[in-house]
Amino acid sequence: MAKYDPASLKAEEFINDEEILETLEYAEKNRDNIPLINEILEKARPVRTEKGCTCRGLSHREASVLLSCEDKEIRERIYVIAREIKQAFYGNRIVIFAPLYLSNYCVNGCLYCPYHMKNSHIARKKLTQEEIRKEVIALQDMGHKRLAIEAGEDPVNNPIEYILDSIKTIYGVHHKNGDIRRVNVNIAATEVENYRKLKEAGIGTYVLFQETYHRESYLRLHPTGPKHDYAYHTEAMDRAMEGGIDDVGLGVLFGLELYKYEFAGLIMHAEHLERVHGVGPHTISVPRVKRADDIDPDAFDNGIDDETFAHITACIRLAVPYTGMIISTRESQSVREKLLDLGISQISGGSRTSVGGYAEEERPHDTEQFDVSDQRSLDEVVSWLMENDHIPSFCTACYREGRTGDRFMSLCRNGQILNCCHPNALMTLAEYLEDYASEGTKARGYAMIERELERIPNEKTRGMTKENIGYIRNSDRRDFRF
Ligand code: SAM
Repeated sequence: MAKYDPASLKAEEFINDEEILETLEYAEKNRDNIPLINEILEKARPVRTEKGCTCRGLSHREASVLLSCEDKEIRERIYVIAREIKQAFYGNRIVIFAPLYLSNYCVNGCLYCPYHMKNSHIARKKLTQEEIRKEVIALQDMGHKRLAIEAGEDPVNNPIEYILDSIKTIYGVHHKNGDIRRVNVNIAATEVENYRKLKEAGIGTYVLFQETYHRESYLRLHPTGPKHDYAYHTEAMDRAMEGGIDDVGLGVLFGLELYKYEFAGLIMHAEHLERVHGVGPHTISVPRVKRADDIDPDAFDNGIDDETFAHITACIRLAVPYTGMIISTRESQSVREKLLDLGISQISGGSRTSVGGYAEEERPHDTEQFDVSDQRSLDEVVSWLMENDHIPSFCTACYREGRTGDRFMSLCRNGQILNCCHPNALMTLAEYLEDYASEGTKARGYAMIERELERIPNEKTRGMTKENIGYIRNSDRRDFRF
């Protein structure tokens, strides 16, 4: 039987079934062990240092104890610490992005995804480079600067060359004052050589959802196609890192398997990356299975309610404090509102999950990957965020300034976020307000900028930020960043 080893490069050793089962047993046994829980909560709390703030995070065992705990008062304390961590490292900034679906051709048989190969009634579509240009113009006209490209797995229709061409096209579109400054990529697990090519193409984060860490369920849920290979899929992030990509994004599709099992697997995966590559995941996404073309989410037994979902989110926040957390428009406005406070740092807005959806006047459904719950426009999302005292940020500075992997993490640890991310958020928000916002959003946005400018600690940085925002308001000069 495989033995647990977080430093191993073999999936069955770093995501070890026996270790997960023992963790769940340990968590269950200690779910009412108040002295232990107090100790774990104390360890999770951010500590002020001379430079700023630091956090120790939690091991998968410790975090699993918190997840098992059903005591209302303890849960509330977990939420309070999640908010403290969020404030300490991410402040009230929320980074905005949009997915861009390139192609829904797929040779896999994933039981939860409408793009599965046997679905003969979904319209198959792959964007041409000209169509991608139109999509990007539509996205730029909304105000987006950061995209996550999505495609099914199909070596004939969507080979790596197609993905690389598409990235080049996206970066090449400069419509009015717009441009796409960061392209994250969510495509199937691939070879080191292809990851190297993606890195050379200038991608931001490579995102790949594990779907489920439970090997047997994984094999059942992916009965056919290249994605059936559990080890190849689970070891993908190691290959991506070997190919030079040091920002990787994890996620599981909640609803497929028991959430406690998934949670332990997810944190173990983060620990493995940290141990082997010296840097944990850049982001963790928390998608839940949604209704889609021929997919009924109730067909899966492990759906989780909103309260459990919030609890999971908060426990992830405590376990991996330096990792960004993403929530998409799969979730409704009210769920997103609650989770933003508990640790989410990135959200999508104004999303369309169909291939070619942005260039269409009406939201098309024939090629959609899943039903979008939050159907508000980007302007509405931006305005709603500000109403709730979150700063919508269109910043893409880090990877363009070479702050990827552990260099980003050290920015967090050195307390430079308020002198760096905060002004970048305000300057990119000003760009949005000037170029794309409705009158109401614009007024609300500039009022927020006025207030938030005063929170930049370094006087010189504050002065430069004010000056740059002046240029944005009074000229076509754009793309200032620290
Ligand atoms: N094809 C790539 C792969 O296999 O990893 C990634 C792209 S896929 C378009 C993006 C993600 O959408 C999948 O990893 C899956 O987690 C999610 N997804 C698929 N079907 C879904 C559904 N019915 N509801 C919610 N999310 C879904």
